[in-house]
Amino acid sequence: MLKDNFGRAHDYLRISLTDVCNFRCQYCIPDENTSFMPSSRLMTVDEIDAIAREFVKLGVNKIRLTGGEPLVRKDFAEIVLALSKFPVELTLTTNGLRTNEFIDVFKKAGIKSINVSLDTLDKEQFFTITKRNVFEKVWNNIQQLIDEGFHVKVNTVVMRDFNDSEILDFIEWTKKQPVHVRFIEFMPFDKNQWNTQKVFSYQEIIDVAATKYSFLRMKDGATETAKKFKPLGHEGTFAVISTMSAPFCGNCNRMRLTADGKMKNCLFSKGEADILTALRNSEDIVPIIKQCVASKAEALGGQFQGDYKKIDATKIDNRSMINIGG
Ligand code: SAM
Ligand code: SF4
Repeated sequence: MLKDNFGRAHDYLRISLTDVCNFRCQYCIPDENTSFMPSSRLMTVDEIDAIAREFVKLGVNKIRLTGGEPLVRKDFAEIVLALSKFPVELTLTTNGLRTNEFIDVFKKAGIKSINVSLDTLDKEQFFTITKRNVFEKVWNNIQQLIDEGFHVKVNTVVMRDFNDSEILDFIEWTKKQPVHVRFIEFMPFDKNQWNTQKVFSYQEIIDVAATKYSFLRMKDGATETAKKFKPLGHEGTFAVISTMSAPFCGNCNRMRLTADGKMKNCLFSKGEADILTALRNSEDIVPIIKQCVASKAEALGGQFQGDYKKIDATKIDNRSMINIGG
């Protein structure tokens, strides 16, 4: 089992398959980021398989595929089927544009739960955020995933004066459908125009929800990032991921692998361990993985702590979200 210096066991790996995306979400891709990594820098199917194997031997029992958009990788099916042989809970986070093409692959790989990102229920707002006019397609794909029996979580980044007015509409959606909306506080990454004013906090989200709905707090899992709520009489649930106003680093079990094979021990870590180069040089990657976990900071990559309203985003040293893999 991989343990850091604070006694936290790490058994959850998030693998970014690519930094390419078919959307242009303003909070994720820096405006000037128009070039993507050359494919020679990306992990191949066999390299992902080999690296994942070592993590599984070290105790990983959950793997999430992400990106960029994981479903734009031409060999996505090959990758997910290769990973499905490991004794792990396999899942993915996607923007939902192409899930209809992979329903059979998801089932064959044993995927039960899928996170789909959707920040608005309004077609025009959808275009404003993603720069793509495909709201209906994503909506229909979410409906298809629900109909096909997948556990669907919807990731919604809440930004003040942009989509905070839709919080109640998202919760209303959970009334008739078993959909699990997760409101995410807006986080700062390289050049993503973050500022404290745009953060719509956990408490504010709960206050808005309480203006219309009665809900119960659900029990947290041991390593849960989301504070979950069950509106009375609803089929689904909602939750808040309060990274900024109430971080949950104390029980963190997550590690990340970027699409170019660099390991990050935290979403906000400055440091990266070059697993892919070591693998390509036929070195043993296990000591590198262990050292990376051991060097994990107590909270938020050691980059900020305390009141998020005092954060100076220009002082945070990190990749953009699309380059890390969300
Ligand atoms: N393309 C896929 C998608 O959109 O679901 C997977 C990658 S995306 C980087 C993963 C998640 O990160 C999405 O739910 C997205 O909304 C979230 N995300 C990206 N930038 C963020 C930010 N600045 N603050 C909070 N969440 C962010
Ligand atoms: Fe693409 Fe997902 Fe980032 Fe949007 S949030 S730009 S869909 S990677």
